Amino acid sequence: MKDAELYGRLLGLETPWYVTQVTLDVKGERVDVYLEHDDSLLWPCPVCQKMLPVYDHKEERLWRHLDTMQFQTWVHARPPRVECPDHGVRQVGVSWAEAGSRFTKFFERFAIDVSQETDTKGASKILKLSWDEAWGIQERAVTRGLARKPPLVLRLIGVDEKSIGHGHQYATLVYNLEKGTVEWIGEERKKETLDSFFQTLTLKQRVNIEAVGMDMWDPFIASTLENVPEAIDKLVFDRFHIMKHANEGVDKVRKSENRELWKEGDPTLKGSKYLWLYRQENLPEKHQDRFGMLQALHLKTGRAYALKEALGDLWNYQSPGWARKYLDRWYFWATHSRLKSMVEVARMVKCHMTGVLNFFTHRITNAVAEGLNSKIATIQKMAYGFRNKTHFKTAVLFRCGGLDLYPTTHPIPG
Ligand SMILES: [Zn+2]
Repeated sequence: MKDAELYGRLLGLETPWYVTQVTLDVKGERVDVYLEHDDSLLWPCPVCQKMLPVYDHKEERLWRHLDTMQFQTWVHARPPRVECPDHGVRQVGVSWAEAGSRFTKFFERFAIDVSQETDTKGASKILKLSWDEAWGIQERAVTRGLARKPPLVLRLIGVDEKSIGHGHQYATLVYNLEKGTVEWIGEERKKETLDSFFQTLTLKQRVNIEAVGMDMWDPFIASTLENVPEAIDKLVFDRFHIMKHANEGVDKVRKSENRELWKEGDPTLKGSKYLWLYRQENLPEKHQDRFGMLQALHLKTGRAYALKEALGDLWNYQSPGWARKYLDRWYFWATHSRLKSMVEVARMVKCHMTGVLNFFTHRITNAVAEGLNSKIATIQKMAYGFRNKTHFKTAVLFRCGGLDLYPTTHPIPG
């Protein structure tokens, strides 16, 4: 096989295009592939597909292709222009690249795969692209994916807030809990933010939502109650968020008790912060002796811990009725504990009782997509280098959007 034919096959070229020349620059580690097309053919207008004769040729264009071994490989061609009676003078499309792209489709596919596995800086290094070029491929992939996305069928969704970068900037994320993907991202974490998500849905789509998982965050609650029919039965306060509040309560008790003990020169609680935050069954063995000793001292922190553990047992219930009875007893116990921050946790749970108990009907949590959360955490770290919120949004949708990102390539003719 001659090199021209070989490259024609590798590029998946079809008539009328063929390779005329392949040059190798060993010093520059570069392969250049030159394409030409047959004359006297009709070409489709890129808008209406009407077949038209060649109008003229613009200057040569260049596309970066997959490397040949270690050699960067570039495709050269001069796509013709046609003059359509309806759409004027237009450049015809080429099979190996998308309109406007400086990369072949095969290269873009590969670049997407690489970018999924690393951050933009890493991808640009591996692919020998500038940061902007590597980022541009991701942006185009997301645009492509969103344009192809089929109409939404959302049954179980989760709403969450994430901070971006250094400042106190937030984004609101809507998860598709069934698919484990990020469905939508909005700037800020206000009621209006979530409203604008619901406004992208038809009434039928909003009726079809069966459950919405979230933290006890008033703006999100208000928006859901306003936009989702029968939301009162659909709101589910995320159990992991609830336990996070309980842990924060325990930690406040520990801090203030530690301060009091220190005044008397007592270091009992020193360095014990994380011991109280484990669930009992998860406490590493190496800490068990010390923790047993601490528990035996009947500290305030120990009582706060017991309340937190008891709240954690709530999720073991199967029936909403029994869960409710248990929660009422827990509330009584917590509000009589004389531990201010645990009383506050109990009041917050009580205020949001319906949504807490809805868990026992819908059994959803925002942590279902555990992989998703760790991916987003990685993007949040990358976000320190992001220039704006749009970058965060694109990065999340690129990695967590479940989108069909690749340009369409045709099988290489055999
Ligand atoms: Zn046309």
